Amino acid sequence: MRIEVDWDLCESNGVCMGIIPEVFHLGDDDMLTVLQPEVTPENEALVREAVRQCPRQAISIKE
Ligand code: SF4
Repeated sequence: MRIEVDWDLCESNGVCMGIIPEVFHLGDDDMLTVLQPEVTPENEALVREAVRQCPRQAISIKE
């Protein structure tokens, strides 16, 4: 499974980075980067929490 971000929806508020900074990183230029697009057993719970909490519903998980 892989993380996908809809860049048209993302407003770079950093909520996802606050939940799991190992996966989502907001740079000084306000650009979000997905450091680790692969969903693993180790990060899955927090990635799903980021999906739930993203205020723009910009994050999804694709099989
Ligand atoms: S929580 Fe959603 S809107 Fe905010 S930076 Fe992450 S992907 Fe973008």
